[in-house]
Amino acid sequence: MITGQVYGNFIGGEWVQASSGKTYKTVNPARKSQVIGEFQSSDRSDVQRAIERAYAAWREWRSTPPPKRGEILLEAYYLMKKRAEDFSRLIALEMGKPIGDARGEVKRALNVLEFIAGEGRRMLGETIPSEIPNNVIMTFRKPLGVVSIITPWNFPIAIPVWKIAPALVAGNAVVFKPAATTPLCGVKLMELFADAGIPAGVLNMVTGSGSLIGDELVSNEKIAAVSFTGSTAVGRQIYAKAAHHLKKAQCEMGGKNAVVVLEDANIDAAVSAIIQGAFSSTGERCTATSRVIVEKPAREELMEKLIQRVSRLKVGDPLEEDTYVGPLAHEEQYIKVRDYIEIGKSEGAKLVYGGRTLTEPPYDDGYYVQPAVFADAKPEMRIAREEIFGPVLTVLEARDMHEAAEINNSVYYGFKTSIYTENIRKAFRFADMCDTGMVHINAPTLGGEVQAPFGGLKESGAGYKELGREAIRFYTNEIITYLDYSEQRPEVKFI
Ligand code: NDP
Repeated sequence: MITGQVYGNFIGGEWVQASSGKTYKTVNPARKSQVIGEFQSSDRSDVQRAIERAYAAWREWRSTPPPKRGEILLEAYYLMKKRAEDFSRLIALEMGKPIGDARGEVKRALNVLEFIAGEGRRMLGETIPSEIPNNVIMTFRKPLGVVSIITPWNFPIAIPVWKIAPALVAGNAVVFKPAATTPLCGVKLMELFADAGIPAGVLNMVTGSGSLIGDELVSNEKIAAVSFTGSTAVGRQIYAKAAHHLKKAQCEMGGKNAVVVLEDANIDAAVSAIIQGAFSSTGERCTATSRVIVEKPAREELMEKLIQRVSRLKVGDPLEEDTYVGPLAHEEQYIKVRDYIEIGKSEGAKLVYGGRTLTEPPYDDGYYVQPAVFADAKPEMRIAREEIFGPVLTVLEARDMHEAAEINNSVYYGFKTSIYTENIRKAFRFADMCDTGMVHINAPTLGGEVQAPFGGLKESGAGYKELGREAIRFYTNEIITYLDYSEQRPEVKFI
């Protein structure tokens, strides 16, 4: 699969070079010496070219009946099903996600395609009774135009698919920018959609650095809306810029998700959820469990079982079937995670497991860090407040459920919270106190089904939520139409 090949931008249905003629290389994070490919270093003019082609193609695409657009997405679903293992291996290779998690990511993308294809037949409006005889008011959902889609590296297939598929079925044309470190997943997605029958120009991709081309993707006057997933720092800029231009925007950003374990919880179930939430996908998820807040009486048993389980996790090559924790996705991540482990130690939290940088064979050519567990942390410590985005877990103690909720809410983020308790009354009362966008009761912080809306509050999410029917609301305008079908028009004074 590794070719070291040069890949183009995908504009107007063709693979083209960036106007600068410049390219950049990406490497396998498990084997830094292995080049994955060479990709276009685009600039503003390439983005403008893609937007012009998208705008031209949009005119016809918008008048393609929504069920027909859905049929093309259904074809993309069948093609992805056939190519699922190739996509999974590509994710593992390009960003280091363990193969089991990579298969889970592809399954999520498939679920999105299957669900969203059906939305083509459900592009529903409303009929509203009029106060005037023989009149009716109707609403229609109409496409926005050309939309920009800007995505991160940590779900290089699923996140682009869950943005691109609803944008297309709703009748928009798309200019897509994948993360600079995972462009090959983007290339393979463009091939998939083209093979499924998306007309030339309706879906375009430009690769390169977000800090160079991001502004054009948001500010260009032909861009009607922006869907972004990534860091809060970049999301804040994009949201402000889109607001300035009065464009629709949705920004999914970081998280500092907690699992709260009450005294009466099933500790084994809680430990399984914590392990999965904190360490699967190497902790590189916006939905990862980054904090555990445990009621004091449950602490000892929880810690004992947790450390036993963490110490058994295999750190290794993402393509090996039994690997649980892979390499960090790229150098910046590697530096950031190691820095946070040092910050935790210097703040006085107790490193009770792991945290070592792995440099001996077979880890010596990859970005490997041993999973880390900090205990006795205080809510004001940076490791308890800031997003780390790696296999690092911080355990805090709470007197009771109320203090647990206070600690949970004390961070700027507001994505997800899980609570483990056998008392359903307490679970619901706790959920009422949470200021996170998603709450899981006796389930991990991970996950989200494609037919339900998905998104956080506070610094985790701004604008419309993603997935579910909400996705179509974001990618369409609601147009209100008044119709008079009376034979003899009554004299009506309109206000
Ligand atoms: P970044 O915010 O750095 O990048 C995300 C995307 O934005 C990339 O394509 C990036 O391009 C692009 N970008 C960078 N600067 C700009 C700019 N000035 N204008 C427009 N686009 C820009 O995040 P990461 O890729 O590092 O992803 C990790 C972050 O994403 C974490 O904080 C994580 O929590 C969050 N995330 C949130 C999710 C959610 O659903 N809420 C899901 C996944 C991740 P380039 O790659 O070229 O820099």
